[in-house]
Formats: sequence, structure tokens, C-alpha cells
Amino acid sequence: MSLAFPGTSSLAADKPATAPTADEALTQLKEGNSRYLRGVQKYPKIDPVRRSRTADEGQKPIATVLGCADARVPVETAFDKAFGEVFVIRVAGNVCQMAELASIEYGVNYLKTPLVVILGHTQCGAVAAAVSEASLSGSLPKLMDEIRPAVQKARQANPELSGDQLTNEAIKQNVWKSIEDVFAGSPIIARACKEHKVKIVGAIRDIKTGKISWLGEHPDQTRLTGTR
Ligand SMILES: [Zn+2]
Repeated sequence: MSLAFPGTSSLAADKPATAPTADEALTQLKEGNSRYLRGVQKYPKIDPVRRSRTADEGQKPIATVLGCADARVPVETAFDKAFGEVFVIRVAGNVCQMAELASIEYGVNYLKTPLVVILGHTQCGAVAAAVSEASLSGSLPKLMDEIRPAVQKARQANPELSGDQLTNEAIKQNVWKSIEDVFAGSPIIARACKEHKVKIVGAIRDIKTGKISWLGEHPDQTRLTGTR
């Protein structure tokens, strides 16, 4: 990704008087999900006019979102956002390693998104594979290595759970782990969170209903960002 690509200017017609705060951006995403659930989207389809304008004038996303590559979880659709409004990173299991971390830093540092969302989803095949300790080939075992700590945490905290219930808890822990990986891997973002310049929240999308459940900030954020 070149820093020279048209990415930091605004759409003049859509430009707000001031950039949204993290809480305002979060409210916009919540309202967008509500519209999506009610079937009253502002952006139900591709808008050729806006597509052309964003190509010429650039993007001004209000949030950076790290989500899963699962074909059932397109991010803009769930938040009823148009081209140029959400900076999206998608990877199986919404894990946060080097490329994902660098992309989040790009969203925060260069596109100036005040909000980062780590978005997991129900019935996540990557997490389910880690829970079931499936035998996988190629590079997939390395992906499992990234998710396994979340599964272990889910098992330790909930020894009575198994099956789908355990997977659901692991999906939640996997969201927290990605936030932990952001803080551990990016002192710049950790400091920005500590100083309340940026907010990172977790969320889980129900793939059957489309509803986003918001988890909020990492429950241990103060400690995780405290030594920076
Ligand atoms: Zn998934």
C-alpha cells in the first residue's frame, strides 16, 4: 500500500464540519447496523457516482475494522456504510499479526480513524477449527497457532463448556486476543488509547440475524496500555 495513493483527502460534499470522535463514530456504526437490521439502508447497493468520486477525491473512513474473511460477513453492509467510509481489514479468524497490525496503524495514523473495531462473528470456521483441534494442511496450522491461546483461555475460564458454547466463548476470547495483539505490537496505538485519542472496541456479529453485539473496550485495557 502506497502512502501516496489518494487516501487522505475528503469527499467534499460529504465532509462533516469536524471529524467524528470515537464515540460519535461508534454511534454511527450502531445506527448503521440498526438500519441494516430494519431493512432501511441508505446504501443498499453500489453507487456508481460515489464510487467515481471516491476514486477522484479520496477516502475519509470513520473507523478501522478488522474482521473475518468469511464470505457471510461483509463489513460495509452490516454497518450500512458506503464506499470510503470504513477502512476494512479481513483475514480468517480476524487475527492480528504483522500485516493486519500495519493496516490498523495505517488506518489510525494516516487515515485518522478515531475508532478501531475488532469484529468477530458467530459460527466462525477458523475458531471452530481451533476448538476441535482439526487436522489441517498447508499454512493453516500457523493460523491455528494464532487462535489457540484464545481457545485455551475459553476452556480455562469455562471448563463446563463444550461444543458450540465453547466455540462461542472462544470467538469472544479471540476478539480480546486481537486487541491484546494490537496493544502489544503497536506502542503508538497503545499510547493513543491510553490518552483517549483512539478507542478500540470488540464486537461480534451474529451471522444469522446480522446483529452486532458490542463488547466494548478490553476489560484489561488499563494494564495492557499502562506501561507504555
Ligand atoms: Zn470467521
